[in-house]
Amino acid sequence: MRIDLHTHSHRSDGTDSPAELIAKAAAAGLDVVALTDHDAMSGWAEAQQAADEVGITLVPGLEISTNFHHRGVHLLAYLPDPAYAPLVAELDRVLDGRTSRTPAIVAGLRDHGIDLTEDDVRREAGGSVAAGRPHVADALIRLGLVADRTEAFVELLNHGRPGYIGRYAAPVEEMIPLVVAAGGAAVIAHPWGRRGGTVLDEAALSHLRDLGLAGIEVDHQDHGPELRARLRAIAANLDLVVTGSSDYHGLGKVDHDLGCNTTDPEQYERLMSRTASRR
Ligand SMILES: [Zn+2]
Ligand SMILES: [Zn+2]
Repeated sequence: MRIDLHTHSHRSDGTDSPAELIAKAAAAGLDVVALTDHDAMSGWAEAQQAADEVGITLVPGLEISTNFHHRGVHLLAYLPDPAYAPLVAELDRVLDGRTSRTPAIVAGLRDHGIDLTEDDVRREAGGSVAAGRPHVADALIRLGLVADRTEAFVELLNHGRPGYIGRYAAPVEEMIPLVVAAGGAAVIAHPWGRRGGTVLDEAALSHLRDLGLAGIEVDHQDHGPELRARLRAIAANLDLVVTGSSDYHGLGKVDHDLGCNTTDPEQYERLMSRTASRR
């Protein structure tokens, strides 16, 4: 049984529709696939219909943007009740933060004497609903203010620079109990991934487990063999479920093909036993 517990459709930043993603998962020989768009559950119905048609198991999920000690932490939530009002309200806050960020960045740069408009950014973003910092960087390049995206981030957009605007994200210590209250199981995505650093050490993970964390994503492309071995040992010490997944984004991310990492069936069963549908 091949199980991939972390994928993105175009409902967030992937490039496949939920139905296309499911068809590709079946073609890739997966038996179980979780759809985990960023802060969004809107792809579930379409994915479920496609999964029923091709005869694979869909695990409805999402990847929630949270914070831990001022660092971004991605929290995978599996099978939460999509109608659980406190969770829906919190996700709305996260999404509002994303859409209101670009105008705030432009305002911050204008305060700093940079003649950039929201229209400039919108032009770079094309039709994307998710206009973001890379598009601000592209607009700055087009205006001749920086040479490339790297310079845009280093000089103007990174933390501590005039165009930096924090984005709302719930503390992970609040989000984990909320996911559990919604009947879901919570797993930290790529805990030692490229952007996360190692703020989530064993003591921190132990604390989060006490708050209801069910598992950690160990087998992820951001983790090399040594990190995976160390994370696996921590999971064993703390009795956390170990998951593995592709973090597939379609064409949006290279080297993340469906099924490139998978979850052991026994670990999958343990994870599902933590959801309300099995509790
Ligand atoms: Zn992530
Ligand atoms: Zn992801």
